Amino acid sequence: MLNLVLFGAPGSGKGTQSAKLIEEYGLHHISTGEVLRDHIKRGTDLGKVAQEYISQGQLIPDDLMISILDDVLEKEAKGKAGVIFDGFPRTIPQAEALKDLLKKRGTDLHAVVGLEVPEDELVERMLNRGKETGRADDNLETIKKRLDVYHNQTSPLRDYYHKEGKYIKINGSGIVDEIFNTIAKELESVSYTHLRAHETRGNL
Ligand code: AMP
Repeated sequence: MLNLVLFGAPGSGKGTQSAKLIEEYGLHHISTGEVLRDHIKRGTDLGKVAQEYISQGQLIPDDLMISILDDVLEKEAKGKAGVIFDGFPRTIPQAEALKDLLKKRGTDLHAVVGLEVPEDELVERMLNRGKETGRADDNLETIKKRLDVYHNQTSPLRDYYHKEGKYIKINGSGIVDEIFNTIAKELESVSYTHLRAHETRGNL
């Protein structure tokens, strides 16, 4: 198993780098933002609740978000070589919950890839994404709220994972392929240990 968290502020490139990591390592991708946007699109009850928070740039409450993730893991992650968590955890209680959810399934979190990008670049990227994709929360007012939420509630997780020896700091500015190569190099030793251990067990 190789379980990774792709960590970073909104607009730091988590989705883009996830897509490349899936290709390279065959991991299953779980983006909590995408899960919520899918509920909104389908008009489910959860989608209606999520819409209120997302349009205000606020986080969905921890209890709700954690139970959604538990469900998604149950439905999608069984038998997979590992999971990339994109956009989760965003708070310390979510990080504690992730530890428990993985432990309950006999596994662990192996590394946290932190994409670090200067704030002006984040804003520019999200404004461009808003224009290109029509994503509703990529407007200047909501972007500012999301960045505040990131600084107040999510960025303490850098220290949290640093103390656990899991945080890998990546300069997330610049060319997508170069950033990916840096991540892949950093993950080589982590993935070698965990993917090889998995293969060896599988061959017994
Ligand atoms: P993202 O696509 O990861 O930027 O997420 C878009 C929005 O979905 C966020 O601004 C939050 O409102 C909500 N969201 C996504 N993931 C989480 C999470 N782990 N906890 C709480 N809210 C979340």
